[in-house]
Amino acid sequence: MYSLDIKTIIVLLAVGQLLSGVLFVAYMYGKQRETCINLFLASKVLECSAWVLILFRGIIHDLFSILLANYFLVIGMTFSIIAFLSLIERYNHTIRRIYIGLVVSFIVIFNLIYFSYNVESSRVLLISIYTVTLWSFPIAKLLTERNASALKRVFAVLYGLALLVFLVRALAVFEFGESMKLLADNYFNVAAFLSLYTVMLIGSMGFILLAKEKADMKLIIEATYDQMTGILNRASFIKSVNVALSLCARKGRPVSLLLMDIDNFKMINDTHGHQIGDIVLKEFALKIKEQLRNYDIFGRYGGEEFLILLPETDCNPAVEIADRLRLATEQNQLNINEEISFTISIGGVSIIPDQETSFETLFDESDIALYRAKEKGKNRVEFYR
Ligand code: GH3
Ligand code: MG
Ligand code: MG
Repeated sequence: MYSLDIKTIIVLLAVGQLLSGVLFVAYMYGKQRETCINLFLASKVLECSAWVLILFRGIIHDLFSILLANYFLVIGMTFSIIAFLSLIERYNHTIRRIYIGLVVSFIVIFNLIYFSYNVESSRVLLISIYTVTLWSFPIAKLLTERNASALKRVFAVLYGLALLVFLVRALAVFEFGESMKLLADNYFNVAAFLSLYTVMLIGSMGFILLAKEKADMKLIIEATYDQMTGILNRASFIKSVNVALSLCARKGRPVSLLLMDIDNFKMINDTHGHQIGDIVLKEFALKIKEQLRNYDIFGRYGGEEFLILLPETDCNPAVEIADRLRLATEQNQLNINEEISFTISIGGVSIIPDQETSFETLFDESDIALYRAKEKGKNRVEFYR
């Protein structure tokens, strides 16, 4: 009546767990390993071992094929959940305690069942309930997380659906009792094992994709932002400026570019050391950022030179903004071990861009203005005319 052979599915489960572990090790080869990746691999080994043990039920002693196999299943599952949670940075001490508690309670109850009336349907019911309970937290976390990626949401929904089948099976076990033996051929078991297989597939692929998504995100952030100050680096600043320039060109609106250079920065390094120099740069970037509107574009050109593009801003307000920034820097005394104060010079340019206007032209002109500000004694704002 049922064309699906449960034992075949179990073999596929064991092989699937093992192969996804092998593939993941190959992918991670030579890369830096994190705790969550080790946990994920441990979970694959445990789950694979569990299914192999279950496969030999009746051939080897029940202590292994039932008791040990179920320990492995639940501990393996818990490991993979913890791996997921630490991957999405949602793992903490409280969660750790809750999961240890859940695993210990499972083992205690399972032992009670095994060594007392040892009915298979009760064991199946127990493990089904625990599977759903253990997974419900990470799924709920993924589903309710604000700004979760599409990958995270789809993963959570698919996983949730597969677990729903599990829940139905747990209820069926409750309803039909002994006929729900683990290896029995019936609709619920076939559905349950297929959903287990799906869970295994989605779990492995989902974990790998989520790990990849996280790594990609890290690369994008590193490629976009200046590592020291956290503001845009030169390349991404120029990219954003070109977008803003063509937008203002189309609307016929003005833009202004400010080139800021810390005065006598070499002296700060020489007097206080390079490390304090770095902190000064960070604090400076933070202070400037606080004073900008959120559509202004702020970036580090290199060294102690910073750029600000002020969209929709012509000369007069741009001079005002530049002078405000200059004054704020002059008045801001940093307290890093000792008190440090410094000033900046700003070279600016304002134009109404056309489609030909490039960042390079604006930069050269503001650089000329900056040179003039330095020449005239520093701590000044000069605009290109
Ligand atoms: P001026 O007023 O003419 O601008 O003089 P200045 O000393 O600021 O200019 P100069 O270009 O001679 O020196 C800039 C110094 O900035 C030299 C360099 O060692 C230092 N510098 C560049 N990048 C960094 C950095 O990331 N961290 C630190 N601590 N210093 C840096
Ligand atoms: Mg300089
Ligand atoms: Mg300087």
